[in-house]
Amino acid sequence: MDTDIELPVAATRHREHLLIERLLKRTAFKLRFPERLETAYREYRDANAATQFRSSVIYIAYVYAGIGIMATVLVGHERMGLWPLTFSSFGLLLLVGWLMSFARSFHLYYQRLTSALAALAVMVAVTHPTLIGQQEMRILVHIGTVYVMVIIYLSLNLRFIYATLAGWGGGLAAFALQMLAGLEPEWRMLAPTYGGASLLGMALCYRGEYQSRRMFLQGRLLQQEKQRIQQLADRLETLSLVDSLTGLANRRSFDQVFEREWRRARREHHPMTLIFVDVDNFKAYNDFYGHQQGDDCLRQLAGIMTEHSARAGDFAARYGGEEFVLLYPGLGSEEAGVIAQRILESVRTRAMPHARSSVAEYVTLSLGVAALEPKAGVHEDRESLLRRADEAVYRAKRNGRNRFEVL
Ligand code: GH3
Ligand code: MG
Ligand code: MG
Repeated sequence: MDTDIELPVAATRHREHLLIERLLKRTAFKLRFPERLETAYREYRDANAATQFRSSVIYIAYVYAGIGIMATVLVGHERMGLWPLTFSSFGLLLLVGWLMSFARSFHLYYQRLTSALAALAVMVAVTHPTLIGQQEMRILVHIGTVYVMVIIYLSLNLRFIYATLAGWGGGLAAFALQMLAGLEPEWRMLAPTYGGASLLGMALCYRGEYQSRRMFLQGRLLQQEKQRIQQLADRLETLSLVDSLTGLANRRSFDQVFEREWRRARREHHPMTLIFVDVDNFKAYNDFYGHQQGDDCLRQLAGIMTEHSARAGDFAARYGGEEFVLLYPGLGSEEAGVIAQRILESVRTRAMPHARSSVAEYVTLSLGVAALEPKAGVHEDRESLLRRADEAVYRAKRNGRNRFEVL
């Protein structure tokens, strides 16, 4: 099994799991995770930036159009002065953002690009009242800054730090520009509109990001749990195909492989051989040497089966009890006879003492060989091949054990 790579992965996952649990216990946290987790969070957050941004733009455009219509109706076209011109600059920024969102790498630069545009919008919004001479219009424009701040903090999916930088940075730039131009910002109006909306926006934006980070952590825990369950399922699948005593494939696994090889042999007109192996007088062996040593003997025999099924495609399994089965795709009965003989010799060479054997002083086997030899018009099913191999074993037993028979 690939435990070498599995272990570090599991350990890393375990460490991250503990970290996430610790983070989730906190009721308030910095809006920044330790490095690896932070990178993952940012990717998760901006993965669908383009589509989310485009749908926000649609709503923002509605609000924008609404404000435009409302202002025109309330104030009247003739008293607006410069306003239509300055107001259109927001529409222009919106359009630029919308066009940018079609760039393929938009999501990678989403926070930076969007917050830069947002800073520009704030700059225009905060400078706006100073540029408008008409008193009634100026009040409306001040109120407009509140809308701009709400959009920046709550609708653009900007992270807290970017929204804050855009909000205050844009304002600061606007003040600096006005000072340089010798204009006086209307502080008494800007404080409750721009200032107040910014503080409220920051608080709500912090809360939103805090929630989104918690959701991310919980999602990540769930994902880890899913992976762990999948790995357990894979492990179980492996276990269910391996015989725990000998480490050979088990009966279940044999059934699957046999079915597959059978179909392939039939389709491609290849011969295929099955060798059934039964230990001679094994009950007596167990009774005399004990079950423990019986197990040990089976393990040694399993090793011999593996040695004799080393070619690609060959397959050895423990069929049950003291029985093994070997599969040789592409091999005819004559060649299989040679292999059966070699197996008998290997066991003889191993010379495992068997004081209660009826045939030798050592452990011996009886083997039954049956081959599928594709001939035109002859149709045999899998079960009957197995039956033939089994009958061949009986014949070997009847003929004195420690031998093989071919049927
Ligand atoms: P034969 O020569 O006719 O094959 O006689 P046998 O005694 O080998 O056949 P039998 O079917 O009577 O006995 C098989 C024995 O194999 C019975 C059981 O004690 C033993 N056996 C089956 N599975 C295991 C196992 O997992 N471990 C051990 N130690 N013994 C097993
Ligand atoms: Mg048996
Ligand atoms: Mg036996």
